[in-house]
Amino acid sequence: MSVEYTTRDGVAILALHNPPVNGLNLASRQALVELLECANEDAQIKAIVVTGDAQAFSGGADIREFNTPLVSQEPTLPSVIAAFEQSHKPTVAAIDGLALGGGLELALGMNHRVASANAKIGLPEVKLGILPGAGGTQRLPRAAGLEIALNMIVSGAPVRAKELANTRLFDRVVDGDVVAAAVALAAEKARGGELPRIRDWKVEHPNAEGFLGFARMQAQALSARYPAPLKCVDAIAAAVKLPFDQGLSVERESFGLLLLSPQSQALRHGFFSQRAAAKIADIGAEVALREIQRVGVIGAGTMGGGITMNFLNVGIPVTLLEVKQDALDRGLATIRKNYENSAKKGKLTAQQVEQRMALITPVLTYDALQDADLLIEAVYEDFAAKQAVFEQLDKVAKRGAILASNTSTLDVNRIAATTARPHDVLGMHFFSPANVMSLLEVVRGSATAKDVLATVMALAKKIGKTAVVSGVCDGFIGNRMIEQYGRQAGFLLDEGALPAQVDRAAEVFGFAMGPFRMSDLAGNDIGWAVRKRRASERPDMIYSKTADKLCELGRFGQKTGKGWYDYRPGERNARPSPEVDAMIENHSAELGVTRRKISDEEIVERLVYALINEGAHILEDGIAAKASDIDVVYLTGYGFPAWQGGPMFYADRVGLYNVLAAMRRYAKGYQGAAWKPAPLLVRLAESGETFNR
Ligand code: NAD
Repeated sequence: MSVEYTTRDGVAILALHNPPVNGLNLASRQALVELLECANEDAQIKAIVVTGDAQAFSGGADIREFNTPLVSQEPTLPSVIAAFEQSHKPTVAAIDGLALGGGLELALGMNHRVASANAKIGLPEVKLGILPGAGGTQRLPRAAGLEIALNMIVSGAPVRAKELANTRLFDRVVDGDVVAAAVALAAEKARGGELPRIRDWKVEHPNAEGFLGFARMQAQALSARYPAPLKCVDAIAAAVKLPFDQGLSVERESFGLLLLSPQSQALRHGFFSQRAAAKIADIGAEVALREIQRVGVIGAGTMGGGITMNFLNVGIPVTLLEVKQDALDRGLATIRKNYENSAKKGKLTAQQVEQRMALITPVLTYDALQDADLLIEAVYEDFAAKQAVFEQLDKVAKRGAILASNTSTLDVNRIAATTARPHDVLGMHFFSPANVMSLLEVVRGSATAKDVLATVMALAKKIGKTAVVSGVCDGFIGNRMIEQYGRQAGFLLDEGALPAQVDRAAEVFGFAMGPFRMSDLAGNDIGWAVRKRRASERPDMIYSKTADKLCELGRFGQKTGKGWYDYRPGERNARPSPEVDAMIENHSAELGVTRRKISDEEIVERLVYALINEGAHILEDGIAAKASDIDVVYLTGYGFPAWQGGPMFYADRVGLYNVLAAMRRYAKGYQGAAWKPAPLLVRLAESGETFNR
């Protein structure tokens, strides 16, 4: 039963029941309308309370119905809301947990609302490139006030009910039993009086015109990339200026247009792809998870420290091992400093800082790791160093403990083979800063046991990471692709572009940072080390020599005050460097290349198509199980613009035929040998198919 019907003191209670968040699927919508009618017809019933459970009043539309005809089958959500608005007995929403999107819109259709103080209230539709489509833009400004509603709708961020306690949105915000409070309110309202309807209220504001003008300007800046925020402002302006039903029509029309916009399609692809990434084809619910109560981290450097914080943040104790006391002290001090910075910003209390620090057990010897359920190695990127660590872990770790490496480039199967329990080994490739970045590549070795993989995927969710499974290969999914992107960036310099032009073109496309600014941030010496290795490992892999020349000048990036750009002390502003630009131009002359003007369009195509081609190889090799996993890696770890949907989605949109044709054109140009279209891309392009199905 998707809605349970009970009665208490002459009040009907309709409790949504559609786990996990009481999504408003067709069955729930039908049941709500039918049970409302029953309650209205039953002479014993004086009023109606609608509620959910402790987890959720309702999380809104049921995402399992997205992209199916069910979502638009009557009664649609607007019809359900209209039915409640027309009820002749008082209706009260009792909100606990969360009321998001359509869930909040449903509550806004009732006469009264009672919420528990910590309930999360929000209209997050803008994050999917749409706007609330069931009256949210019209009713929330009337109930919560123009400024609060606009901020909630344009940002999509939820707020706690207690922060809205002074608005007309809630009749009562309570700490105790929300249903009891709602039943009491309903009984009181049943004694008579008008039935208030938000649709009849006015949006009150001393200077609505001025405020909306300001909001429109801010949204316009965002809207250069995607139209939803500006449409939200327009719909809210309609709530201020137009009669309710006309405002609803403005909202409806924008909703329909936005739903079809390429940006919304891309954002929804990203949303569903993240969920899909957690599903692994050969691992079902029957695989029992191992219990992770204590984690051990080996190495308290940049990564080890950040990795540790992830577990402390969710209350999992960590034993942190270093070889020397001073390295251990430095690692602990950095963790403490990070937490204290959060405390300064008001994100943590001083007490929380101490609680988290107290969860660390700093140690210098391996026997202290005996009771850890998961051990994560984060020592230097050197096979012999890792081998020594894993041999030790193999000796001390308890049976069933999971052994993970944070290696960026080494062969996880080889690491696993240094132990007598390769089935317990896998890679956990965190990104820097590991306490901030949401992406985690979980590297499945050829021997990794299913329950080991499933346990780590579940744990990743618990610590707030977006986990994507990668097979074993050099660079895994993300870095293997970025290497090709970096190579094209270098060739573009040889041929005629300068770093600032390449970065600007990439940033206009929507990348958070162009390749050269990114490299200056990460450290140019990292790529230098990789290229030196490549010279013996992969002599076929040709690179522009400009990046090596840069490093020979000691220009390692922001950390040395100069890289592809110059940086003034204490500043992060990238200033074009005459020294570097001259070096690039001289290098072209040495190569005998006549520099030419390269269009921004060509720059973007070459960067993005290089990602796509390597992505196609990765899919074909089975390193990624599905194209959408690759998109998730790029959306969450590499600053690929969310409204472009990820490289593989973008390729599908451009059309694989067109992508292939461009690659074949580039193959005839400078360093054309780098453009060997992946066989999978050729096959799909020739048969008119797409990467994402
Ligand atoms: P780092 O130099 O900052 O830290 C390494 C730490 O390990 C040092 O504190 C060192 O004292 C300690 N250590 C060395 N040998 C040890 C041993 N036998 N036992 C215990 N501790 C030992 O390096 P990092 O940047 O944190 O990198 C660590 C690992 O993470 C590497 O494999 C690297 O490839 C990987 N990684 C790094 C990044 C990054 O951006 N820095 C990103 C992803 C993965």
